Amino acid sequence: MRRLWAGFGLAALCGALVLIAAHQVEGPPAYRETLYVFGTLVEIEIRGEDRDTARTASAAVGRLLQELHSDWHAWRPGGALHAVNTAIAQGRTVQVDERLAELLQEGRRLSCASGGHFNPAIGGLVGLWGFHADTPPQGAPPGPDAIAALVAADPRMTDLRLEGHRIGSVNPAVRLDLGGYAKGAALDLAAAELRAHGIADAVLNAGGDVNVLGTHSQRPWRVAIRDPFAWGVVGAIALRPGEVLYTSGNYERYLDHDSERFAHIIDPRTGYPVREIVSVSVLDSSGIRADAAATALSVAGRTGWPDVAASMGITAVLMITDTGRLMATPAMLARLEPAGDSLPGPVELIKLPARGTALSCGNGRDNPPRY
Ligand code: AMP
Ligand code: MG
Repeated sequence: MRRLWAGFGLAALCGALVLIAAHQVEGPPAYRETLYVFGTLVEIEIRGEDRDTARTASAAVGRLLQELHSDWHAWRPGGALHAVNTAIAQGRTVQVDERLAELLQEGRRLSCASGGHFNPAIGGLVGLWGFHADTPPQGAPPGPDAIAALVAADPRMTDLRLEGHRIGSVNPAVRLDLGGYAKGAALDLAAAELRAHGIADAVLNAGGDVNVLGTHSQRPWRVAIRDPFAWGVVGAIALRPGEVLYTSGNYERYLDHDSERFAHIIDPRTGYPVREIVSVSVLDSSGIRADAAATALSVAGRTGWPDVAASMGITAVLMITDTGRLMATPAMLARLEPAGDSLPGPVELIKLPARGTALSCGNGRDNPPRY
């Protein structure tokens, strides 16, 4: 599936997806704004509103996203999450606001449903691999002993103790890094903010992770999934009102060393970056769940991902492996439109197991969970 494709009218964006908005429409012109938050460009497009309403709503979203970015930042001092991590390291508890308390509760639920493949408690490993910086890591990968020590310390979301809004951890090795689902949570809140301002039709695109409201002037918002191997797209999806499409890719951030590439998504079981999955796209109705699931499925790998998807309640998945193999669930294949005459390669249809098979809170290891 390595081929170039150029079609539609592509407004190329920096992430894994490309937003398609090529046709001419009647009514007020679209209102567009771009912000830099969560380490990426966030594009807001509002349709069918007068300029003042759209600008007010967009400014409110901008303020909200900046606030969440600083509150939930994994390594920058001064934010709420940094204070939580410091308290955990020192064996203390700390007060957090309602929003962060809810985010952590939801993170714990999602981590359990993913069987521990999605694990926001492994901030220590993410930092060890050099991803707690605004620029890509340089130099050699961390030593195996340091990695093994962090894996053995076994940080899990279920180590957290949340009493009201006070938070602590029974395991001092827990370091929260919400990078695997914060964008989804933030875009869900941003979409709610737009709705509260009376906006019916809009798209929020955070570097390729997309939430839509309503339609693009009576037509669906169409979003393309980027081809991770070439400049072009795999296909496009017409999103229904309220749907989201999130993509995790091991090509997004990485450490290059001695012609080896180490991705920013870490397998909590081994402490090493994922290798075999290049891109996972999840179509869903919740940004927070789709974001967490895309990360979890990258970790679960070629054979493990269907169980994790079923357990997380995800039905529509497109998976691209390092060898260019394309796999999709029936729910995704039904929605994926080829960009040209056909999709760029044969797609293997993968049926998910029944949802009753919920995974538990372990890290996907054999040892029984401690809770
Ligand atoms: P995403 O692009 O949504 O897949 O998120 C990747 C980010 O999530 C990384 O940059 C880390 O901050 C964090 N992360 C890495 N590995 C994991 C994991 N196994 N579970 C949860 N978050 C992770
Ligand atoms: Mg994610």
